Amino acid sequence: MSGAKLPFERGAMLDALRAGTHADPFDVLVIGGGITGVGVALDAAARGLRTALVERDDFASGTSSKSSKMVHGGLRYLQNGDVRLVYEALRERRRLMKNAPHLVEILPFMIPILTKDGVVSKKVAKALGSAMWMYDLTGGWRIGKLHKRVSAAQAAVHFPTTYLDKLSAGYLYFDAAADDARLALTVARTAAEHGAVVVNRCSVIDVTRDDETGQANGVTVIDGDGRGDGDGERIHVAARCIVNAAGVWADEVRSLDETAHPDSIRPAKGVHITVPWDKVRVDIAVIIPVRADRRSLFLVPWGPRPGGTFDHVYVGTTDTDYDGPLDDPQCTADDIDYVLTALNQALDPDITERVTSDDITGVWSGLRPLVKSATDNDSNAKTADLSRQHQVAVSDAGVVRVNGGKLTTYREMAEDTVDLVAERLDAPRRARRSATRHLKLLGAGRPTTAAPGTTDHHLAHRYGTMADEIRALIAFRTELAEPLVSGQPYLRAEAVYAVRREMATTLDDVLARRTRAHLFDRPASLAAAHDVAELIADELGWSAEETARQLDAYRRLCENEENAGAQHAHVAHTTD
Ligand code: FAD
Repeated sequence: MSGAKLPFERGAMLDALRAGTHADPFDVLVIGGGITGVGVALDAAARGLRTALVERDDFASGTSSKSSKMVHGGLRYLQNGDVRLVYEALRERRRLMKNAPHLVEILPFMIPILTKDGVVSKKVAKALGSAMWMYDLTGGWRIGKLHKRVSAAQAAVHFPTTYLDKLSAGYLYFDAAADDARLALTVARTAAEHGAVVVNRCSVIDVTRDDETGQANGVTVIDGDGRGDGDGERIHVAARCIVNAAGVWADEVRSLDETAHPDSIRPAKGVHITVPWDKVRVDIAVIIPVRADRRSLFLVPWGPRPGGTFDHVYVGTTDTDYDGPLDDPQCTADDIDYVLTALNQALDPDITERVTSDDITGVWSGLRPLVKSATDNDSNAKTADLSRQHQVAVSDAGVVRVNGGKLTTYREMAEDTVDLVAERLDAPRRARRSATRHLKLLGAGRPTTAAPGTTDHHLAHRYGTMADEIRALIAFRTELAEPLVSGQPYLRAEAVYAVRREMATTLDDVLARRTRAHLFDRPASLAAAHDVAELIADELGWSAEETARQLDAYRRLCENEENAGAQHAHVAHTTD
């Protein structure tokens, strides 16, 4: 049976983890607290399996906080012929919109149709029209809106800074978006509501085996990130089945129970940059081409303000093979050049100023954990062409591995994984079927009627029905209603809530993942860092030395990002 519900608090969770002994093992232990791992933990716990999850760093600190934040089918995967992936993703998009309406919002997209020498290419327009119909038929319709063609004047309203004299029309279609790190955190909290033991900053360093059968029967974890500094107690956690959901680190984790194994992951780097909205002024997501290669980039407005304006636009993403350190992929000057060049080629210099690297207020860089399967083992294949399908497999020692996939399809990946786990455990009938298709995530309620850009709207889209918990903090200490970071919508109460209720334990957790201030305005976030550190120091019981250490670590992170952005890495960009 699933365990008793625990508060989402690290100390209590660690105690519960220690209780996983050989006499009383967990049914499932999940390694990795990205969207895949937390999805597996929720699926398992909701079936009544006794579940634990350990995350080496922070929830979503890997790829799951660095995506393009789309809950989508992916128009371009259709163009790659991956109809099944798109169908499944669009079905999952619908489910997620029902189960987490507070976190997932409809995001209209526009593909501008431009003339060349005053003429629209009939071939291009026809191909686009067919792609739009295909997308709708594959499942786009599930969102309740079909694509439409809009006039040049209507297209100009959505993208007023582009070459209006070349704009002949636009295609509008509808997808959805979500704050990826918040989605992962909410899934983790929902898993805990269903009795899962969920701990961050707890690294798996060994997989143990039964002496007689040779089957994996538990893991050794370190209370800490396992990289040395600050590492603490070693805990042996017994579990009947172990799931490797370690994303791009899956091969590292595989090596704990498989001494020789093929590389199963081909990491592909993708970067995004954030620029001030004033310079781009899109009011919905817009897709722009990258000249000279067949790629395209998204321009996505972020941070609604009253009156239909926004704080920022983020632009991405690239798709390049990556063989650097997995822990620290950086956005290099080459990546920035590539994105800025494409962006500026889409902007009319007579209407808006050129966007330069000085305008960039934030960057993020993530690694796609693409599956290296037998069919796409060709190292010459472009990473953009590799399938985003997921794969579930089992090692000789019985460790179940789930690789690949997308943020959007996390629930389905979890269902497939736990189906296999339940079979291996010979679990009772009740645990053989996933219970997550209609399972509401924490905070799901009625959609807000608050106007975009208001505090009520901001809180509703981050916490749903739990927004009252933030308001209760403010009622008790009114100064917590003040902004956390200048120019950003986050409140000081959100930082306090993050450490009390969301297991944030570092300054970076608060600035980069519980809030997204770091991604969208690094300079403002850095300027506020001292103040934020003092605010959460009280809550976390930090000494003056620890507060200084946290500040130092955060400043170093910012410096590393800045320095990487100044270095040319000579990366060849593949084409989609
Ligand atoms: P991760 O999020 O990386 O999680 C793995 C976790 O395992 C990490 O947190 C890590 O710390 C932990 N771990 C590693 N080793 C250990 C250990 N020894 N002990 C304990 N824990 C360990 N998908 C979409 O649907 N929509 C999009 O718009 C989209 N855009 C993307 C854009 C980019 C640039 C990228 C890179 C990906 C994008 N994706 C998108 C894909 C999606 O983000 C990923 O598929 C997904 O986030 C992968 O999640 P994961 O949990 O498998 O990996």
